[in-house]
Amino acid sequence: MSDLHDLTVAQLATKLRAREVSAVEVAQHFLARGARHDALGAYLATNEEVTLAQARAADARLAAGETAPLLGVPIAHKDIFVTTDFPSTAGSRMLEGYRSPFDSTIVTRLKGAGAVTLGKLNCDEFAMGSSNENSAFKPALNPWDTTRIPGGSSGGSAVAVAARLTPAATGTDTGGSIRQPASFCGITGIKPTYGRASRYGMIAFASSLDQAGPMARTAEDCALLLSAMCGPDPDRDSTSLDLPAEDFSRCLNDSLAGLRIGVSKDFFGKGLAPNVRTALDAALAQYVKLGARLIEISLPRTELSIPVYYIIAPAEASSNLSRFDGVKFGHRAGKYADLTEMYKKTRAEGFGDEVKRRIMIGTYVLSHGYYDAYYLQAQKIRRLIADDFQQAFKQCDVIAGPVAPSVAWKLGEKSNDPLANYLSDIYTLPASLAGLPCMSVPAGFGTGGMPVGLQLIANHLQEARLLNVAHRLQQATDWHQKTPEGLR
Ligand code: GLN
Repeated sequence: MSDLHDLTVAQLATKLRAREVSAVEVAQHFLARGARHDALGAYLATNEEVTLAQARAADARLAAGETAPLLGVPIAHKDIFVTTDFPSTAGSRMLEGYRSPFDSTIVTRLKGAGAVTLGKLNCDEFAMGSSNENSAFKPALNPWDTTRIPGGSSGGSAVAVAARLTPAATGTDTGGSIRQPASFCGITGIKPTYGRASRYGMIAFASSLDQAGPMARTAEDCALLLSAMCGPDPDRDSTSLDLPAEDFSRCLNDSLAGLRIGVSKDFFGKGLAPNVRTALDAALAQYVKLGARLIEISLPRTELSIPVYYIIAPAEASSNLSRFDGVKFGHRAGKYADLTEMYKKTRAEGFGDEVKRRIMIGTYVLSHGYYDAYYLQAQKIRRLIADDFQQAFKQCDVIAGPVAPSVAWKLGEKSNDPLANYLSDIYTLPASLAGLPCMSVPAGFGTGGMPVGLQLIANHLQEARLLNVAHRLQQATDWHQKTPEGLR
């Protein structure tokens, strides 16, 4: 028998249902493996007692003949989802040790589907970052080369899945935080259409962009998890779409014959590292073998997505983060003379540099006199970027491109250069601004043997199609099956 950690979510769920292994055995295996590889910095919190109690409950449901799709399958959550069973920090000192009185909807849904929680995963503070180095607690290390970053902000999620410390994890994606770490760590991750997944209990960064999604080794697993995660939540998230839950696995095996894949020169221009381009070309050639056609499309405002996102996201963040005032949640300064000083000291102590930078940018672009010049302009260009995608989807069914301009960089390489981090988001931001479903699929390896991800983008609500396109590639290639050496 292969090791339990080599099994996919789908394989584990089948074995559990057949009672070939118990949920407790599976949970124990992953807890031990997580502890053995603690130096990777993937987890911020684990609790054996809590996990094993959930596993025992899953075993009881299995024994009673229940067939919930994820019954007994372990999962770990990005520490941006609030949970009653574990602390919820968003990677910030501000929320160190914070306990939520409720579970986020995503966690509730996954528990309902039978998943067993292994713990909470490291991330950039309030999901702001591209390297996980903005975590207030510790960096997470890329299991393919521990001198490199795993990407961010869902860095801990990508590390945990790539190192097989969990079969799957949740992540959130505001401007690329599922896709980019998935790409850098050689795993699969999908951000659904904005509004598919409830944001209730997801600690807010930029509310018009934030969206939850699964990260796993295969598209098949992502489809299973996404089906459990999505669905309307009208009483708790007014932006959740009023659409019934869907089975996103339903067309995984559909043929790709005649599929029109849009390829934009705006995504394959001068900023893209040649080693990444070579890997992506090989993946595109595979699609042609599978019967797809490559169609040239244009996304002319790709470059503008950086200034637009880095105005809108900080604007929304500055508003969302005003709730951390030392009164309602988390940290409060120890000594202060009056209320104003309490606010100031609390926020100065609780937030890290990047968060403060974004609050200042956001407050500035929303202030009188600059609102029209920056925020309103950005909103208008956001609409044009979304329109460009609609033009493109008249010619093609899905769009393929890079996730990031390079493979994962070295720890520390860009940590003092916020602009360099922002620029590396160029290929993930457009789909986020347009609210489109998009994913990263392993597409081989580049410089230093580091993984390269192919980004796939579909029109709104086309997740099932997107996952089909990813799954067929994974049936024809073995890039997603490779494991970092030394982690067998
Ligand atoms: N890297 C982007 C940022 O720093 C995206 C983060 C995210 O998607 N949460 O804002």
